[in-house]
Formats: sequence, structure tokens, C-alpha cells
Amino acid sequence: MTIESDGRPHPSSLPEAEGPAPRQRIAARVRSVPASGIRKFFDILATMQDAISLGVGEPDFVTPEPIREAGIRSLEDGHTAYTSNFGMLELRQRISRHQEQRYGVTYDPVNEIIVTAGVSEALDLAARAIIDPGDEVIIPEPSYVSYAPCVVFAGGTPVMVPTTEEQGFAVSAHQIAALVTPRTKAILLGYPNNPTGAAVSRDELASIVRVAAEHDLVIISDEIYDRLVYDGWEHTCVSSLPGARERTILLNGCSKAYAMTGWRLGYASAPADILEGMMKVHQYGMLCAPTMSQHAAIEALDRGEPAVQAMLAEYTRRRELLVTGLNRIGLPCARPQGAFYAFPSIQGLGMTDDEFATQLLVSEKVAVVPGSAFGPSGEGHVRMCYATAYEKLEEALVRIDRFINQKR
Ligand code: PLP
Repeated sequence: MTIESDGRPHPSSLPEAEGPAPRQRIAARVRSVPASGIRKFFDILATMQDAISLGVGEPDFVTPEPIREAGIRSLEDGHTAYTSNFGMLELRQRISRHQEQRYGVTYDPVNEIIVTAGVSEALDLAARAIIDPGDEVIIPEPSYVSYAPCVVFAGGTPVMVPTTEEQGFAVSAHQIAALVTPRTKAILLGYPNNPTGAAVSRDELASIVRVAAEHDLVIISDEIYDRLVYDGWEHTCVSSLPGARERTILLNGCSKAYAMTGWRLGYASAPADILEGMMKVHQYGMLCAPTMSQHAAIEALDRGEPAVQAMLAEYTRRRELLVTGLNRIGLPCARPQGAFYAFPSIQGLGMTDDEFATQLLVSEKVAVVPGSAFGPSGEGHVRMCYATAYEKLEEALVRIDRFINQKR
């Protein structure tokens, strides 16, 4: 064997290889993220007739007609080109006014607001704009399934904060403070919460902001469910709290409040320097949000309020039916303060949440999502979305009752 001057064998003297070992095609950080725990249920559901889905987290309403018409008009008027990367200025002005009127928080529509393809894209932009490799992001769980993967894809490390039923799944500032390290870059909050329906009080949020200020952390606040709150609960916009605005990336969008999930329309508001970073990622990755959806969003923000109120009234009625019904049939369920999810406990039935969801789907054709799909603290619970017709919820309760009676 010929030996090179650096001590390694000369390639020509090596035994004939059978070819290079196959390279991993998928990047390690992508491989490290498991596929969403929700998908399996939808694959089974798709093969069934007469199934009732309480699984999907989206309104069952069609987008209100005036908003649909604004989208159609946009197309008919020939608005089929890109808009500014930031989004249409008229829309950013509406977003700015809306936030000021609702929460007294002011963002400059010129350089502090960006329109995105849903809050999903806004989350990705926020993560990729601020995270350096190894930076830690503190995320309370159970949480929306995208949060931790977004952080991982951006090269960061999610640090999950477990929350419990006893604390109403509402994270405390104390819990967050205990997890701050020199590597912590941000806190990612999602309240009202998917999947638990929990909301965090104004005082507690103010304490979380103080923790962030003390350690110079960014707060990413996903407030996509801000309009869907119950029993007179007043949503607190994190940016409106003392000391928050200069360190907060505020996310919201049209998907939930206006029943516009398919339009892909979200927005982020942040101090100009952060927004500039997000803008760069958006500019190269997405260019702009769909133009017709931007026109539809203007209509939503200008005249959509009665529709929001009507849908909220219906969600309130359904929430009452579902939560009361679940408690009656023996699945303890707290009253969700926001969003449109009930998160009952299935402990005591002698099965895991995953088994419960699978067996309920197979035997009674009711789709729910195991709580553990949203983080380990969700174990022993299932998520049921009540953005589903009242009659279907009634029927689902009959089927769930029958199912648990068989299991007892
Ligand atoms: N954030 C939360 C908490 C959600 O529940 C969802 C969707 O279910 C999203 C963001 C994504 O919203 P969008 O449709 O705006 O991308």
C-alpha cells in the first residue's frame, strides 16, 4: 500500500470499493423532527364515510361573502401581479389601525408590518430572522405543532416548558425564568392556546415581559386566536404591555377570526430592525402573500367585524354543548378561555391518548387528536375542535359516550 506524506493511504492503493456509501439526502435537522402526530388520523379519516372530524383546527364556516367577493373582484380587476414584498400598503395601514384601535399599540405600516402567507410563514420568518445556531427558544407546551419544528429548522434549540392541567395550562413567568440560560434568545408564546384553549392573565404576561427584558430576550407572540375568547375574557396583546413593544414580534392573521385558512394571509408586526431581518427571509423565500388574499383581507379588516361576532356567538354555543356534554359523560374538561378547542382528560379509561384517538376513530368514526401530539404535557388528553356544526357535535357526543361505556 502506498502511504501519502500525511500518513493516509494513497487512494489508488485502496481495495476496490463497492461505491460510496449512500449519502443522507435529508438534512439532519429535518430528520430530527418527527412527522406531525396528527397526520396519521387524517389518513385514516380520509378512507371513512359518515365520520365526524373534531380533528382539524379550522373553522367550518365558509369565508363571509363580502370577503370572498373582494377576492373575486381583485381577480376580475386584473390584480394578478406581485405586490410589494411588505404587502400592499393599504392593507398594512388597515392592520396598523386595527391593532391601534383594539390594543392601543402602534406599528408603522411602512417599515414595521409585513404581510405573510399565513401566520405559518410569519413564524418561520421570525425564527429564521433571529436564531443563530444553538440559540435556545423557550416554548410552553402543550403547544401548536409547528412551534418547535420551526425553531429546529432555523438551527435553534427548543426548550419546552411543561404546563399542567392544575395551572390551567397557562405558563407562568416563574417557569420561564427558571429555564433562561446564556443561550436563550427568545420566548415563543401562543395564547389563547392551541390545543388547550388556555389564556394567560395580563399580570402574568407582564411578568413574562419583565423576564424577557431582564435577559434581553425577543418575544414571539402568536395571537392568531385573539378574537376568539369567551365569557368576557379580555385578550391582552403582548406588545401593548410596558417594555414589550421593542422586543416583541407580534403575529396574527385572517385564518381563524375570518374563516380564511385557505387564503393564506397572515401578518407580523415588529420593531423596524427585526422586521427588516424577517423581510429579507420573506423576500427571497416567498416574495409576497397572495394578491387577491390581500384585497380580501382589506375587506375583512374594514367590514368583517359583524361576521366575526356572528361566528364567535356560534362557537360559544358549541363550546357550551361540547364542554357540558363531555363532563356529563365522564370526560373531565375545563372551560377553554379561547380558540375553539376542548382538551378533555381521558385518564382513568386505561388507555393512552393515542389509543383512545385511534380506537374512537376506528369504532365510532369520530376523529380527535391525541394530546401528546402537542407535547408530553398533553398526554392523557385529547383535542376536540368545536369549529364543527352543532348537530355533528351532538352526534359526536353520543358516539363518544357509547365508546367510553364499552371501555369502562
Ligand atoms: N398558530 C396557531 C396557534 C395555529 O393554531 C395555527 C393553525 O392552526 C397557525 C398558527 C397557522 O395559521 P395560518 O393559517 O395563519 O398559517
